Amino acid sequence: MKDRFGREIDYLRISITDRCNLRCMYCMPEGIETVPMKDILTLEEIAEVAQCASKLGISKIKITGGEPLIRRNVCHLIRLLKDIQGIEQVTLTTNGLLLDEMLDDLKSAGIDSINISLDTLDRERYRRITGYDRLGTVLKGLEAALDNEIPVKINAVSVDWDTYFGGRRTDDISALVSLAEKKPVDVRFIELMPIGFGKNYKGIPHDQLIRMLGESYEGMERDDSHGNGPAVYYRIPGHLGRIGFISAIHGKFCDSCNRIRLTSRGYLKSCLCFDKGVDVKKILREEASAGEMEKRLTKGLEECILLKPDAHSFTNTEEITEKLTMSVIGG
Ligand code: SAM
Ligand code: SF4
Repeated sequence: MKDRFGREIDYLRISITDRCNLRCMYCMPEGIETVPMKDILTLEEIAEVAQCASKLGISKIKITGGEPLIRRNVCHLIRLLKDIQGIEQVTLTTNGLLLDEMLDDLKSAGIDSINISLDTLDRERYRRITGYDRLGTVLKGLEAALDNEIPVKINAVSVDWDTYFGGRRTDDISALVSLAEKKPVDVRFIELMPIGFGKNYKGIPHDQLIRMLGESYEGMERDDSHGNGPAVYYRIPGHLGRIGFISAIHGKFCDSCNRIRLTSRGYLKSCLCFDKGVDVKKILREEASAGEMEKRLTKGLEECILLKPDAHSFTNTEEITEKLTMSVIGG
């Protein structure tokens, strides 16, 4: 379905839990309260929303969280979503901690690709950023996914960690870039957005980051033939993977925005920046026949798509109305 600005909306991000087994400083630091399970959509409720969404033209689904792999029966959900007619891709974004042990199940459930969030390859920095000394486990998960030939991307949020930890910014970034040298993985930097706890941190503006990398890597050049989402990719000679930049602020891509988001608490969001959306949990939990329920959910989805604004206001922070944290929205 098209929104008011003619953009085709074909991508649904679904946060399936607001709980997590890490405590990333900019996302879900210690002390955040989680809501009781009864306030979180059931897997069947999620699949019901996805079913209606597919009839409106949603063909790609990203499962996110919190940490999606800690939700019990996540592979059952993947199967339910894969079985929906019109859903062409079901992908996952994870911190990677449970990837190694869950890979076989994820593969047999039919997961199409996996994004692993990883902000540093320095063990001590990883511990300070996430609260846990688990870098080795994530790297094992990455290897396991590659060995199983599941397409993998690495996502790193461009926080200026040196401001908080000291050290040299380039060390961290070039270590991440080097992952793409020997392995066929794209390493993507995501510009820090002023949402949730992200507001309290200093990001590295991507115009600066791209310039900095261009100076460090001879022959780095833009590769517009790669990717089909908001990331802009660059090729570095001698590297198997590409380096991507998802620059919501310094490379605003609202003109081609194709997504809506379902939070773990059942709220359908029209834009990351604003709180406008539709409470689909309320609809799902009303008494209604199957046919009537489908009608109400479809109406809710249509309303949400039509609520999409033309653009976010991340550079005008007083206009941001979203109060939820990223761990509830799902990024
Ligand atoms: N736990 C999973 C993970 O880490 O991939 C999924 C949920 S997490 C909220 C999804 C993505 O959002 C992660 O890559 C995380 O780094 C990113 N993220 C969290 N807060 C952010 C912010 N303020 N700006 C940009 N990205 C953010
Ligand atoms: Fe958890 Fe992902 Fe947020 Fe880190 S970024 S706290 S792993 S939800």
